[in-house]
Amino acid sequence: MSISATFSSHNPATGEVLADYPSTSREEVFAAVDRAKIAAIQWQSLTPKARKKELLAWCALLTKEVDRIAALVKEETGKPLSDATLEVTLAIGHLAWAAKNADKVLGERHRPSGLLMFNMSSRVERVPVGVVGVIGPWNYPIFTPMGSISYALAAGNAVVFKPSEYTPGVGALLGELFNQISPIPHLFTVVTGQPETGVALTESAVDKISFTGSTRTAKKVAASCGARMVPVVLECGGKDPVLVAEDADIKLAADYALWSAMSNAGQTCIGAERVYVVDSVADEFISTIKALVQNIHPGVHGNYGPATMPSQLNVIQSHIDDAASKGAKFLIGGTDSVKAPFVEPVIMLDVPENSTAITEETFGPTLVINRTPTISKAIELANATRYGLAASVFSKRNGRRIASQLECGMVSINSVIAFAAIASVPFGGVKDSGYGRIHGPEGLMEFTYARTTVKQLFKIPIVFTSFSRTPFADKFIKAAIRLLHSRGLG
Ligand code: NAD
Repeated sequence: MSISATFSSHNPATGEVLADYPSTSREEVFAAVDRAKIAAIQWQSLTPKARKKELLAWCALLTKEVDRIAALVKEETGKPLSDATLEVTLAIGHLAWAAKNADKVLGERHRPSGLLMFNMSSRVERVPVGVVGVIGPWNYPIFTPMGSISYALAAGNAVVFKPSEYTPGVGALLGELFNQISPIPHLFTVVTGQPETGVALTESAVDKISFTGSTRTAKKVAASCGARMVPVVLECGGKDPVLVAEDADIKLAADYALWSAMSNAGQTCIGAERVYVVDSVADEFISTIKALVQNIHPGVHGNYGPATMPSQLNVIQSHIDDAASKGAKFLIGGTDSVKAPFVEPVIMLDVPENSTAITEETFGPTLVINRTPTISKAIELANATRYGLAASVFSKRNGRRIASQLECGMVSINSVIAFAAIASVPFGGVKDSGYGRIHGPEGLMEFTYARTTVKQLFKIPIVFTSFSRTPFADKFIKAAIRLLHSRGLG
């Protein structure tokens, strides 16, 4: 084993060095994947019931250690302890769901063989892919990667996890706790490191990569994996809209939109970044949100913490400056709101649609509120983006109708972000927000492939799959097809 160097994790609020972690070398990443291949075979040899038991034991241990994990999440990200605790509990909920439902979702299924193939028995089984490489971000350092890790393990795979270089401690702790309960060595391995460690994972012998992070990096990951036809799940950034219709509960919409935009310092992939509010209720929405935001402040003991990644402050500043230069108005905050490492809340009005505050992910505690004449125009503007992760709709009567017209993977109606806490529903986006799904049955299926088995039950006089096929067989199949399909009936 050769570990080339170490790197430090920092508390983003104070700059204090928290601990040093190995920069796992390419050679060691490859070796970890090779060991995981053996572990995957052992894991798959257990019964689904035995796998469930092991994962629920991990669940119980994580539950016992909630406070310790949350404290570390707070230290490494700077988020309030209450938010960190909520994050850990949600991750545990997903692990429990995946463990309890894997067998039911992935069990072998019988399929009808059809009239012409009535002598065949057809079955489909879901086969674990083998070793899943999980690459994670820093903004939700346990909730986000566990959306892949839990579902991949429950589906029968081994996992090699590369946590973000900003939150290596949370990753290392997850691995340490898993190894306290794991019956199989190297089933879940954590490889800490800088981006190069992630690159090595994409070039290793993994059978699938599940990546969560920026769209820019996702494209590199997909290209690297594409060279060897390694499938990928890409969970990337967003520019999530909130649509407020004229029959919306305005107080609820303002409260939820504000929290969605500002909590976790705006560093939420599915957080609100743009609001499109119908003219007739816009004044009421704007005055309500203005009153609410007065009580929201960043700080070590504030409603939200610092920017976890210092370089993001430049992006946030540039989006605010660009909007200001294009004529946006400021309801709260302004071009001087970035006070490193914190950012005061910024709410901008009437922001031109070609501003970077509309076109790019800001990932800070900023919110754009634009008025639209109709809800149809709000839908059009919500969709006019290269992203397609999630959206929120506020409407008492037309929520589902509006939701059905949005080009994104997840919609909350009269709520925000709720789907992330519901383990039975899939999570993921479209367009530049990525592809593939974690969570729910789809998240379990994602880490398996379909293996079809068809078995001849008995011989029939007419054979199609042999050189002994007769002219009568040809006539028979044509006649049967005519009988079945010529009338075009369902
Ligand atoms: P990032 O893309 O900078 O890094 C993500 C991970 O990729 C890190 O572990 C990093 O070390 C690794 N990495 C960097 N370059 C790599 C390469 N060439 N090959 C392989 N791995 C590489 O993203 P980030 O700043 O850590 O996270 C923030 C982004 O994540 C935001 O865009 C946010 O919207 C997105 N995000 C998306 C979801 C989702 O589920 N859709 C959830 C959380 C965060």
